[in-house]
Parts: sequence; C-alpha cells; structure tokens
Amino acid sequence: MSGYQSRQNAINAVNNYKRTTAPLNFTETPPTEVFGSNVFSEKVMRKMLPKDIFKSIKKTIKHGTKLDPAVADYVAAAMKEWAVSKGATHYTHVFYPLTGLTAEKHDGFLSPDGEGGAIAEFSGKLLIQGEPDASSFPNGGIRTTFEARGYTAWDVTNPAYILENPNGTFLCIPTCFVSWTGEALDKKTPLMRSSQAMNKQAQRILKLFGNDNGELVVSNAGPEQEYFLIDRNFFFSRPDLLVSGRTVFGSKPAKGQEFDDHYFGAIPRRVLSFMMDVEHELYKLGVPIKTRHNEVAPGQFEIAPLYEQSNLATDHNQMVMTTLKTVAKKHGMACLLHEKPFAGINGSGKHLNYSLSTPSLGSLYDPGDTPHENAQFLLVCAATIRAVHKYGKLLRAVVASAGNDHRLGANEAPPAILSVYLGDQLTSILNQIKEGKVSESKCKENLKIGVDTIPPLPRDAGDRNRTSPFAFTGNRFEFRAVGSNMSIAGPQVALNTMVAESLDYCATKIEEITGGDCKKLHDAVEQVIRDIMKEHEAVVFNGDGYSEEWHKEAEKRGLPNLRNSAEALPVLNDPEVIELFTKYEVFTERELDSRREIYLEQYSQTLRTEAAVCIKMGTTQIFPAAVRYQNELAQTCANLKAIGKDSVSLTLDDVTAKLRGLQTSLTELESILAKEDFADALEEAKYLCYTLLPAMGKVREYADALEEVVADDLWPLPSYQEMLFIK
Ligand code: ADP
Ligand code: MG
Repeated sequence: MSGYQSRQNAINAVNNYKRTTAPLNFTETPPTEVFGSNVFSEKVMRKMLPKDIFKSIKKTIKHGTKLDPAVADYVAAAMKEWAVSKGATHYTHVFYPLTGLTAEKHDGFLSPDGEGGAIAEFSGKLLIQGEPDASSFPNGGIRTTFEARGYTAWDVTNPAYILENPNGTFLCIPTCFVSWTGEALDKKTPLMRSSQAMNKQAQRILKLFGNDNGELVVSNAGPEQEYFLIDRNFFFSRPDLLVSGRTVFGSKPAKGQEFDDHYFGAIPRRVLSFMMDVEHELYKLGVPIKTRHNEVAPGQFEIAPLYEQSNLATDHNQMVMTTLKTVAKKHGMACLLHEKPFAGINGSGKHLNYSLSTPSLGSLYDPGDTPHENAQFLLVCAATIRAVHKYGKLLRAVVASAGNDHRLGANEAPPAILSVYLGDQLTSILNQIKEGKVSESKCKENLKIGVDTIPPLPRDAGDRNRTSPFAFTGNRFEFRAVGSNMSIAGPQVALNTMVAESLDYCATKIEEITGGDCKKLHDAVEQVIRDIMKEHEAVVFNGDGYSEEWHKEAEKRGLPNLRNSAEALPVLNDPEVIELFTKYEVFTERELDSRREIYLEQYSQTLRTEAAVCIKMGTTQIFPAAVRYQNELAQTCANLKAIGKDSVSLTLDDVTAKLRGLQTSLTELESILAKEDFADALEEAKYLCYTLLPAMGKVREYADALEEVVADDLWPLPSYQEMLFIK
C-alpha cells in the first residue's frame, strides 16, 4: 500500500468511525455507585475484617505505624475472598521501576488441593512479599545479574484494586520494589521515605505553634495531566510516533494554535465520549477525576483529579496514564503522552499542585484566619522559598528527560530557570518582614507577626502567572516543569526532602533563639523569615518567565539555567544533593548514583532510537517519495523542452537541491549515530545532545522543506494538519 493510500484510508476510517462498545448509562448505574467499586477500600475492609485487625491496619495506614505481621494473613484472606467474588483469577504485585512505567507480574490464586481438584489460595506471606524475576529492569549497577533478586513489598498505605479485562479480572497489590540488600529499585520507595522525612521536620514546626496533636503531616499532589489524541490510523502510519512517541518529521500546518480557538472550546464528540469512558474506568478504581477540557494546541486535552496524599496520587496518576492509552484504543484513537509530539505546537506538561497538610489544619500553605496561623503559614512559605533557591538545580534535574527538554524553556512551558512566583501581596508581606519596617504596600502599620496588624491574607491567588515554573496559587504551590509522560514521584521526592531540610533549618534556628521560651516565638519566627528573605529573595520572581530580560536578570541573580538533561542529570551527584538525600535517609549515595546512571542511559537510548527512526524514515519513505516527484518533474521538463515550451526546471532544481541536502544530512547522521565508544554515560549523553540532536534537526529541515513542495499524492506520511485537525 502506498503511503498516500494509507493516508486516504486513515481519513476514511476517521470519517466512518462508529463506536463498537455499548454506551455508558449513568442513570442505570449512578457514578456514586461506580466510584471505588473495584477498590479494596477501608469500607470493604471494615466490613470484611475482624474489628481488632481492622483497627491495627488502619493505624498503619493513617499514622504510619509498623505493620503487625499477624495482621497480614487476615487481610490476605479477605482480599482474596473479595477479589474472587469479583471474578479475579490472578493477583499481581504492581510496582514502579525506574523506567517510569507500571510493572506487573501475574500469579494465579489456584493451587492443587491434592485430590485432583484446586482451591484458591493466598496467604499473608504472598501478600507481603513477592519476587518477580526482575533482572532486566534498570538498576544502574545496584543489582548485578548473579544477585538478580529484587523483591516487591506490599505498600499497606495504598489500597489494592481490581483491574478488568474483557476476559476476566485480576487483583492488583501496590508494592515497593527493592533489591535483596534493601536498596530502592523503584519510584515508590523513596517517595515514602521522603514523606516520612518531611513529616518528621514539619512536626517540629507545628509543635512550636502548639499544633502537636500527633496527626501525620502528609504531602499532597494534584497532577493536571495533558495529552494529545490523534486517530489511530494516523498513528500507525507514522513509524516515528510508534517507536519514539514523537514526530521527528512534519512541516508546520497552515493553521496551528494561533487563533487560540481550541483552548476551552467545545470538546469534539468522539473525544468527549472517550473522556467519559476514561472517567468511568477511573471512577471504578477510585481515582477522583474532576476536570476535563481542551488545551491550547489543536488535538490537545487535559484531565485532572482532585488532589490526594502523595503516594496515592502518584499511583493514581500512573493509572490515569495507562487508562488514557487503553481507552483511546477502544475509541479508535491513540493517546500521546510524550512531552512534545509535534514540533512547533505546544507540548504537554503535568502541573504538579503540591501542598503539605494535616487533617485538622488543612494545607500548611493556606494563610488561615488568625495572625497566629498566618505566622506558621509565612514560615512554611519562607522555608519553601529557601528550599527552591537552595536546591533549584535539583528540581531541574528531577524533571529532566529527552522529551521534556523540548518543552522547558521553549516559550510555552516554564523556563528551565527555577524561580518562585508569590504574587504581589505575599511578596509585599515577606518584604516588609525582611525590611522590618513599614512599607508602602497594603499594610499600613508596623508589621509584626502575632499582633493584629497583619492584614487578612488572600485566599485567592488573584493574578495567575502562567510563566512561572513554581507558583504560589493560594493554598498550594504549582510545579509546572514536570513532563506529561513522567512519574510524579521524582519531583515529589525532591520537594519533600528539600522542604524537610528547610523546615529542619527553621525549627533548629527558632529553638535556638527561643531556648524553649514560647513568649519569644513570634520574634524568633520573624527573625528567621527575615534571614531567609535576605538570603534567598533572588529566587522570587513575579514577572514574565518567558521574556529575554528575565533570562539575563536570572543570570545576574546567579540562578542556574540548565538547558538540557545532559546538563541537569549530573546534579544528582552534586555533593550538596548527596548530603541532602543521605542526611534525611531518602537515598543512599549508591541509589543516587544508580539513578543518575539510569536516567542518563535512558536519555541516550531515547535519542538513539529517535535518530534510528529518523534515518529509516528519511531513507525509505521520504527520500523515495521525493525522488519519484523529481522523476516526474524531470520527465515533464524533457517533454516540455521537446515541444519548445517553458520548462519547470526551477522547481526541479529546487527539489534536487533539497534531495541532495537530505541525502548528505542522512549520511552525516548515520555516521554520528555509529559512534559507540564513550568513557561513561555522561560523555555519551553530551555527545548525543550536542552532536546527534542538531544533526537530526538538519535532516528534518530538508525533509520538511520537501514536504512543502512534493506532490501531496506522493507524500507517504500523514501531515501535521491531518493528525491535529481530523478527529
Ligand atoms: P488550574 O488549571 O486552574 O490550575 P485545575 O482545577 O485544572 O486548576 O487543577 C488544580 C489541581 O490542584 C487539582 O488537581 C486540585 O485538586 C489541586 N489542588 C487544589 N488544592 C490543592 C492543595 N491544597 N494541594 C494540592 N493540590 C491541590
Ligand atoms: Mg489546569
């Protein structure tokens, strides 16, 4: 089938699309009934477990106390009974390896009963620990193959759930994935460790303010997930999308996003039907999906849940990504989670809304009603500002990936320079504290925290700055540099630990100043905030993060600007980063080292794959198409000349020149890709970043130029126009 034919088929398929599954009926089964129906929730446990067992496990979940092993057998039995009643034949320990994906290995419940029959079996031991043959997951040298054992360990704090398949269901148990020496091989383990570290330090701060009722301080995440949808027929006709998740070729569509007519526009019917299906599936899994809308780029959309406690939100976001992909197939579409599937069109990010909270205090980033609450709020904010200033490089490193590099700093996503947006009022208050005197701002009196002169702080963020990578939005911070395709675990591990370190610093300082005398508390808090603002105000920036002036200004302020992953990933081995993570027992040095290694390898692997598919498509699809057109032109030229008419030799010359360019640039790219001998992973990543990427860009330049001139019926690939606008 010619490329053109496959494009035509795709367009026909889009036009004639009919859904194959029965429509959802929310009147028959109301969403309230659907929600959580596949979750082994607290409610289910209360019903199925003996009272004392339920109490014990609840304590572990709510207060982070150690799990009593005797409890596991009871829970396992109840879990199995519940799962089997829902048709499950298998169970799986679900884990999150460093690939950023979700991994599962299924085991059957059935065991022979010794009399020729079978019984369903599941013990506490099987629930608590699994041993997947996991030797081929990336481990950065932590686990050599001869000691290939990796263990999965039950994460009691997140509920088990049932996943459905047209042919049956299976029980999923969230787990941590560790080596036999206890080193983390996954994304979940460090996240849980970092939450613990953050809680410990936050408790010290709360205690100073008399808020020590024993409630855990948790971090919360509300990830807004962006994605693209294109028809599956187009997807299959684009080897680059299929293999690398992004298009490595494609000339600009005649109409892009200039009109801003897609953003928040009416959602196309097929897409809406897809969204409803996604939400339905996620409701069953207890994922609290809240919003859906069109995004800025044509073909781009967003789904956001209500925020949840970090660990759960992270598992749920993985489920969201998986569900988006699988349900899209059902509707004849492909969901693209890549950060930049289409050059020149807005990329996809994941805004990570982040806060710390306790059940009775709510968000610690919420100003509160009394000056006393305000003081605690301002202190926690100041601590966070200090953290971002001190560890900005780290925050940049944890969102580094080949895909996200196309986004960060590209005038649509936040810049790679980490700054904090506070808004006018919060900036003004913190400044007044810093100056220790009246200023011209909204607050007329001498500002002293703890006396009534402090103005009621804004609940609403007011001005919504969209260009800041880290913005205060009323009761939380929004970290906007996270990539759409990434696990949100990494960024939260960094945030939790950085903030823990800052809270530790604040608590220690205040304890020193007051010497336990609570009358001195407010003066001490004021002094600590003042010191922090004096030292770290450089990171506060309320202006336009896209502007050229900011880049210059940021440099003057000494804020790092790590432009790509090859520059950012080595930060994971900076002495102050090692010191941070080891001090709070979130990562050992070896674990950090392995991560840096793995992420660099992933980066290089991605670039190599993209280059390989670029060469393949350039050589076997684009070049032949252009040659055919060249031949057509040449024949026409000859024919016209023969009858003494004007020839089309100008066009022929143009195509020929572009073809030559394509040929040379492909050869060049091939020879660059062939280099394999590198001293280490960093050297390779740098080489690919600075040499291979530009070479791919050159190939693309010629190929896209050819797309602009070659006859449409010869062009082998679905165009940007088709993929983005035909739905
Ligand atoms: P917007 O697009 O205006 O930023 P959305 O409604 O799309 O807002 O998403 C905001 C996200 O922030 C939601 O997931 C929401 O639940 C989450 N969020 C709200 N309050 C908090 C909070 N205190 N901590 C963490 N996340 C929060
Ligand atoms: Mg949003």
